[in-house]
Amino acid sequence: MAEVISDRKCETPECSNFAKLRCPTCIKLGIEGSFFCTQDCFKGNWNVHKQIHKKAKGVGLKPYNPWPEYEFTGKLRPFPVTPKREVPDTIQRPDYADHPEGVSLSESSLKGTTSIKILDEEEIKGVTLASKLAREVLDTVAKAVAVGVTTDELDRIVHEASIKRDCYPSPLNYYRFPKSCCTSVNEVICHGIPDMRPLEDGDLLNIDITVYHRGFHGDLNETFFVGNVDEAGKKLVRVTHECLMKAIEIVKPGEKYREIGNVIQKYVQAHGFSVVRSYCGHGIHRLFHTTPSVPHYAKNKAIGVMKPGHCFTIEPMISEGTWSDEMWPDEWTAVTRDGKRSAQFEQTLLVTETGCEILTRRRAKNGQPYFEDNE
Ligand SMILES: [Zn+2]
Ligand SMILES: [Zn+2]
Repeated sequence: MAEVISDRKCETPECSNFAKLRCPTCIKLGIEGSFFCTQDCFKGNWNVHKQIHKKAKGVGLKPYNPWPEYEFTGKLRPFPVTPKREVPDTIQRPDYADHPEGVSLSESSLKGTTSIKILDEEEIKGVTLASKLAREVLDTVAKAVAVGVTTDELDRIVHEASIKRDCYPSPLNYYRFPKSCCTSVNEVICHGIPDMRPLEDGDLLNIDITVYHRGFHGDLNETFFVGNVDEAGKKLVRVTHECLMKAIEIVKPGEKYREIGNVIQKYVQAHGFSVVRSYCGHGIHRLFHTTPSVPHYAKNKAIGVMKPGHCFTIEPMISEGTWSDEMWPDEWTAVTRDGKRSAQFEQTLLVTETGCEILTRRRAKNGQPYFEDNE
């Protein structure tokens, strides 16, 4: 108890003495007032007064948990989500951007069809450019990944980097997804919603970027290390990246889509990891998600044979423990059922006459970006 104060009255209700002292804890916490006349008055008031400190520190306040009934599978918890970000009217929007439920009518009108679109020259140009821009956005946000940064801040960077490139961030309002990218931490398999959680040392963070540029989507994701990641986490991420590259090697005209899962699972299983089954790669061009469906697990029944002009993603989600997943009550966040970590990498591929082109590949370090990067 310190500090001499003048002309203030003691805060004890029945006391009308002038206050000479001020509560040191309140000074430290930056709380206004808290003047007392003597040590005795201060002590006599302690039980009531200390509640002010608790409140200021947030002690005793319930932690944020929008779903008290839900049993989490791991340690990760949701944090508040900031309001939806706007996209300027000058940017061309996909059909679901303004649908109240975020439904894509152009996608759902093709439900049940299995035929795979062969892109013409102009469409190949469109999807190539969108993929290149998506890569630029991912490389931009990757620079901001650090301990203490919130995934909401990363979402802001993605949103602004997309707009700057004349792109609509494809996830925004897609079946009412509330943000401009997916950020999936540790046990989150995919479709994590950016929120106010600060990244922690040792986190595995996947950032999934899709942009829509003048009628075409491009889609990729990578898993990043936040601070110091343990060896097991590093191995998981390395093997996940390797299995994607192995799968890409077999992409060529005449190959069956169902073979991709055989390659991935064989490689991943040999390293003691498992392949998530509920989420697949997908056709992509004028539509965000369309035929073919590309499972990443072995012995799948995927339909279709690769042909020049097909455009699709491979995006294996690989888990440390069980392959099985469940969803948070937000109806987006997919997590492992055992709470162990999961990693993912994704590329958008174009089947060529002889093999494939990775449209979302990382370009040479000093390669000419389409738009200058000032972030
Ligand atoms: Zn995708
Ligand atoms: Zn993606």
